Amino acid sequence: MTSQMEKIVSLAKRRGFVFPSSEIYGRLESCYDYGPLGVELKNNIKSAWWKAMVQSREDVVGQDASILMHPKIWEASGHVEGFTDPLVDCKSCKKRFRADHIVKTDGPMTPQWMKKNFEDKKPKCPECGGELTPIRKFNLMLKTHLGPVEDEGTTVYMRPETAQAIYVDFDIIMKSSRKRLPFGIAQIGKAFRNEITPGDFIFRTREFEQMEMQWFVKPSPQTLSQEGEGRVRGGTPEEWFEYWKKKRMQWYLDLGIKKERLRFREQEKDELAHYAKKAVDIEYNFPFGWKEIEGIHNRGNWDLSRHSEYSGKDLSVMDEETKEKYIPWVIETSAGADRTALAFLLDAYEEIAGGRTTTTESAKEAETVLRFSKTLAPVKIAVLPLSKKEELSSVAKNIANDLRKHWTVDYDETASIGRRYRRQDEIGTLFAVTIDFETLEDKKVTVRDRDTMKQDRVAISELEKYFSNKFK
Ligand code: ATP
Repeated sequence: MTSQMEKIVSLAKRRGFVFPSSEIYGRLESCYDYGPLGVELKNNIKSAWWKAMVQSREDVVGQDASILMHPKIWEASGHVEGFTDPLVDCKSCKKRFRADHIVKTDGPMTPQWMKKNFEDKKPKCPECGGELTPIRKFNLMLKTHLGPVEDEGTTVYMRPETAQAIYVDFDIIMKSSRKRLPFGIAQIGKAFRNEITPGDFIFRTREFEQMEMQWFVKPSPQTLSQEGEGRVRGGTPEEWFEYWKKKRMQWYLDLGIKKERLRFREQEKDELAHYAKKAVDIEYNFPFGWKEIEGIHNRGNWDLSRHSEYSGKDLSVMDEETKEKYIPWVIETSAGADRTALAFLLDAYEEIAGGRTTTTESAKEAETVLRFSKTLAPVKIAVLPLSKKEELSSVAKNIANDLRKHWTVDYDETASIGRRYRRQDEIGTLFAVTIDFETLEDKKVTVRDRDTMKQDRVAISELEKYFSNKFK
């Protein structure tokens, strides 16, 4: 029996969503390329996030910072010192493992946990049964060199998260956009981590994209006044934490993820990063277990204090009424575009045994439907002339070109209509427009809905209006 993950990985490759990078050279482990449908899907995820987090709010602005930044930033942030994972090597086969991938745990890898499970129990290599080295700390930041000389002084890091650029640019962005606290800065961009054991397809890779928003807020208690969506002023960090927690969960639900496959998980006190006051993960029920897709963190004033200290630039702000100066606190929402893409793919996947289309040729085969939401579906409309004959295809091509001005359209004139419907269902296309010989007489086409399979006969002249209503 093929597992659901195997089915998704195979569909993703076969239909051009996502596949291993550099395959003709034997591939590069843990790196993936997004094909034509994958890039549409991921762009749709990112723009849905941008719209919800930036464009529809008056209190969040965007940025796009450079990946390579001053190396001192990573000293200030604590990454040089502490962004490590516990690593063990097998002395025989030389394979490397993250400690919690040998002894599974949902909790934190505290020194006590490591002593009990490794020093005392001495587990063996899961691959060859060989002896393992003691645990050591492995820094996850990828290094490179700037300029022609490779020495210590030229070392820079590929950013392991997008957040630090936001803290570093906080002051200039606040002033140039004339924002007052509380407000947020959002960014979507690549991040790199030299993960010891990447895996589970695009769940854990060494190069990935993050969608992060940092919300700057005054630490002292104030009253949260709800003046309507997007115009909430004041509020304590704790209240804002709860606000963003709800908002972020709702975002996944609005994009169609099934409620029962999502949950919050609060990190235990001893799991928290040293700077974090509170952290809640949004988890998705993957075929390999409940796993984080997004983290919501109350980071206190750690980030701006550290960057003030290390850069020498005072990043405190002045309360205009009381004239007191303070370092803002930060509430962070941090999601992965690739990890959520996997969650959206898995969640949309449905297999119908026996099939639902009834043309003789394709009946009785299992049928796959990706039930993407309207926002995320990579292709919105398929245009399918019943025959390849010029008299039909020329009409169909004109229709496709008109619709393409507003929506992503796939034109397909090969194979039986049943097969073509199935091809479209398998990639989650929302509607199929069929042009038949009657079209030449009545100037109407048939529109089929992916989910209900209901068919509407619509005048060509009304098609644009028809779809505008559907995509409202
Ligand atoms: P994990 O515990 O799974 O390694 P994390 O707690 O280190 O994740 P964060 O630092 O909170 O993750 O990063 C925020 C988000 O970035 C995660 O929720 C995830 O969606 C994404 N992310 C982090 N690491 C990776 C990775 N290696 N590959 C893909 N996405 C990632």
